[in-house]
Amino acid sequence: MENKLRLDIVTPHGLVLSEDVDEVAATGTEGEFGVLPGHVPFITTLKVGMIILKKGSKTEYVFVSSGYAEVSPDKVVVLADSAERSEDIDVERAKAAIKRAEERLRQEEKIDFARATAALERATIRIQIAERRVAR
Ligand code: ATP
Repeated sequence: MENKLRLDIVTPHGLVLSEDVDEVAATGTEGEFGVLPGHVPFITTLKVGMIILKKGSKTEYVFVSSGYAEVSPDKVVVLADSAERSEDIDVERAKAAIKRAEERLRQEEKIDFARATAALERATIRIQIAERRVAR
């Protein structure tokens, strides 16, 4: 479709989203980037964070855990370990994940610090994104 971008977000759990959009923004490990139709091709790894997609006057938010994005003039493909649209995020589940991670981090015995902080980060960002839902 002319002047549109196809955005595909794929995880090992399946296809989370495949839509024609006007604009995509995401956080790469080298920094935030925005993509409009006709963008020069590039590939980047992604930070745990938010993909913002714009369709007309509508803005949607999608959580993505680490992965990568492949940008071409008419397409953005995101491959991530996990991804959820803001409205599909289970806030209670994320709160439970925060509680578990915080309890682990409080333990005195040796824990997998990196794993617990990564779980905490995923859950915290999920809640932030869920709070945004869909802005129209
Ligand atoms: P949890 O400890 O709750 O499983 P996690 O961060 O370890 O959280 P992931 O490994 O990122 O979970 O994801 C595993 C699967 O569960 C993925 O399909 C992901 O989309 C889904 N998922 C995880 N947390 C949530 C949530 N709060 N709401 C909706 N789906 C979730």
